[in-house]
Amino acid sequence: MSASLTAFAYLIASVCFIMALRGLSSPKTARMGNIYGVSGMVIAILTTLTLPSVTSFGTIALGIAIGGGIGAIIALKIAMTALPQLVAAFHSLVGLAAVFVAGAAFFSPEAYGIGTVGEIHVGSLIEMSIGTAIGAITFTGSIIAFGKLQGILPGKPLVFPGQHMVNLGLGIALVLCVIWLTVAQSDSAFWAIVAISLVLGVLIIVPIGGADMPVVVSMLNSYSGWAAAGIGFTLANPALIIVGALVGSSGAILSYVMCKGMNRSFFNVILGGFGGETATPGMEDLGDRTVRQGAAADAAFIMEQATKVIIIPGYGMAVAQAQHALAEMAQVLEEKGVDVRYAIHPVAGRMPGHMNVLLAEANVPYDVVFEMDEINSDFSSTDVAFVIGANDITNPSAKTDKSSPIYGMPVLNVEEAGTVLFIKRSLASGYSGVDNPLFYEDNTMMLFADAKKMCEDIVKALKGGGH
Ligand code: NDP
Repeated sequence: MSASLTAFAYLIASVCFIMALRGLSSPKTARMGNIYGVSGMVIAILTTLTLPSVTSFGTIALGIAIGGGIGAIIALKIAMTALPQLVAAFHSLVGLAAVFVAGAAFFSPEAYGIGTVGEIHVGSLIEMSIGTAIGAITFTGSIIAFGKLQGILPGKPLVFPGQHMVNLGLGIALVLCVIWLTVAQSDSAFWAIVAISLVLGVLIIVPIGGADMPVVVSMLNSYSGWAAAGIGFTLANPALIIVGALVGSSGAILSYVMCKGMNRSFFNVILGGFGGETATPGMEDLGDRTVRQGAAADAAFIMEQATKVIIIPGYGMAVAQAQHALAEMAQVLEEKGVDVRYAIHPVAGRMPGHMNVLLAEANVPYDVVFEMDEINSDFSSTDVAFVIGANDITNPSAKTDKSSPIYGMPVLNVEEAGTVLFIKRSLASGYSGVDNPLFYEDNTMMLFADAKKMCEDIVKALKGGGH
């Protein structure tokens, strides 16, 4: 392929990636977005294979077979609830790849046309050292995020005295090493950049706890994009630069949107040490608080008397895979003349869009699914708020209790509804580890059960005892 044809093919691939991002911005167009993404990647890989410098086809085929095989198996087996940690694990590999490519370019510059050993162009040295640093930070940071989300490492923020000073010191050392590498082209400088960045990746993520993980995962996504873009400059590969910049900026925008969704600043998230675990009350240590419990028949009775019901799905719905039973329950209620809508909090579940995907899987029509901002003022005129496996996103202490770790995070105003029904298995707290005072309100009824089982029982009760 001629150089101009290669550039054109990369441009087409880049346009496909832009269309993919556009498609993925709404559940209605997400499937098409994925098709654009896959097409862009196929074009980019095939174009790269036609480059004159690419000769080791056997090794490449083996790599694609092993990587593609592992990817296919993971995609088929992965539970929806484990996607955030999978995304974190994948980001770590992008970071590691950036370090390997930069290392290869530094030790064999001739192969990349960026000079000879000891005589590498200054611009390339700057690009590769930045790519190495961001890649190594992304690698270890993503592994820590994976460990926290998978429950291998404690979700609690790990803070120690002088932490910010240590990070600042390492940051300054990193900049000095980048200058050292650029000036002296020394192997030791390269390895020092790798070592400092690996340590920084760990130190940046360990103080960030529970409820901030969505922001962290998207931030690491952004880092992995910038690392790829940095390496794109070293390789003079326009597709990699464009795709890296797209991933980098979309991850940064998503982090910003999520920070706004939690009413926190980005620096507060990074430096905050937020989301610790607090003790959860058991039934025996309620003090003078009481909890009203109900059964499926009670919930069915209350909802079929209602005019308006808003369903608030959360992480527990995903764990129980209750979306199909829930959709059936909503349908039965609608047949009985009840107006049923869904309210989606921006960080419900364990990844952005988690609830939308599950509801779409259960064929819930898009026009009854509302984002928090669109529906939050409607709770006061709603008879029943039906909370299924959600907790933090309904916690009113985020609005009132200045000492609460989730103070300032916007929450759904479910307590304003006539009756609040809560399906969960116990009084346990949610991801942020904060107790929810809503469980003890007079207008709350707790339905202690697995979410899927409870929805199925409510459907039976609705069908058995209808009007
Ligand atoms: P929460 O984690 O606050 O609460 C989920 C609740 O579901 C738990 O309290 C649990 O209670 C209940 N539950 C678990 N399994 C079941 C089951 N089988 N049947 C019924 N209930 C069940 O979830 P929310 O969706 O309300 O809030 C999301 C939280 O996750 C926020 O703090 C957010 O910051 C954080 N987060 C969000 C991410 C995102 O991008 N969306 C990513 C990572 C974290 P019990 O054990 O009593 O059943």
